Amino acid sequence: MKITSVKTAATSGHCMHLWVRIETDAGITGLGECVHGGHQAIAIIQHELADKLIGRDPFAIDAIFEQICRSPVFEGGFAGALITALTGIEIALWDLKGKALKVPICELMGGKFHDDIRVYCDCEVSPGMNMGEVRAVVDEVLEAGFTALKVDLDIRAYGHTGSETGWYEKDKFNMTPNRWEHDRMVELAGMVVKAAGPSVDVACDLHTGLDKHSAIRLARDLEPLKLMWLEEPVPPENIDVMAEITRSTSTPICAGENLYLRHGFRKLLEQQAVDIIMPDIPKCGGLSECRKIAELADLYSIPFAPTTSPPRSEPWPRPMSARPSPISRCWNSTGSTATIGRRSPMAARSSRTARSP
Ligand SMILES: [Mg+2]
Repeated sequence: MKITSVKTAATSGHCMHLWVRIETDAGITGLGECVHGGHQAIAIIQHELADKLIGRDPFAIDAIFEQICRSPVFEGGFAGALITALTGIEIALWDLKGKALKVPICELMGGKFHDDIRVYCDCEVSPGMNMGEVRAVVDEVLEAGFTALKVDLDIRAYGHTGSETGWYEKDKFNMTPNRWEHDRMVELAGMVVKAAGPSVDVACDLHTGLDKHSAIRLARDLEPLKLMWLEEPVPPENIDVMAEITRSTSTPICAGENLYLRHGFRKLLEQQAVDIIMPDIPKCGGLSECRKIAELADLYSIPFAPTTSPPRSEPWPRPMSARPSPISRCWNSTGSTATIGRRSPMAARSSRTARSP
């Protein structure tokens, strides 16, 4: 079997979702997805990678992956849009191979560990909400069957229009929250935890928005809430700072959404700089690469909570067959809530679109 063509299509979800279709001379096709690669990923596939794939054996997934990773080293073969484009190709090749062999992909990766998997709902609450408004968001998530949820805590993630914090204009370049911002984040997290109740796990995302001291202060002040995790408190590139934050608090720190390939996770894991990792499967390398990352995390007893980014109309939990305790994100497809842990997989379907990863 030979690859005969590589096609792309883009759809809109909580970001641009790029779909990669690989066709063969046997008439078998594979479909892959990737996110956060932008229009660069389309150009990379169409103008750079497609020619390298045509005529190749589609079953040689690892060889194709390594070749594409290594050959354009001067163009960024280790992170960014090129790896995102490669991720779409990798997932399409696995899809194609599973179809050709008439088995689920997990059967080609050692077999499944679970028949069901816990996912969380990634929700939206605003710093301007009162307790009643927060409770309405949380109740909707819980009614859908979720047993865990995540909210955006950083104030810069919101427009504030029409809320009681509408007067406040965030300095986008200041990573040191003032006292009011800090107290508002603590208050908001407290309202969510109270609304969720003691049997529901709550995580809070900071989108890399704080400096070291501010992150430590916030993580410590959130300790009484017993969060499931505090996500990306600082930018991902300084592993030493992330480790210092993690060591300073009992609030679990989670990161990895903006890292690529197993190499990108090496120092994070070796230094045990976080309590939980969260690779973005359709961005950081694909199915096989995330399996390898999960196995590396298991060496350090660090749980693996992968991110997925389904299109607006289809919340899409993706079980991994790797060992570290899988908990996966599901986007609530209309916009206010997204999450972890579920009681019913189909109940996760809803109509909201979360705004930020
Ligand atoms: Mg995030």
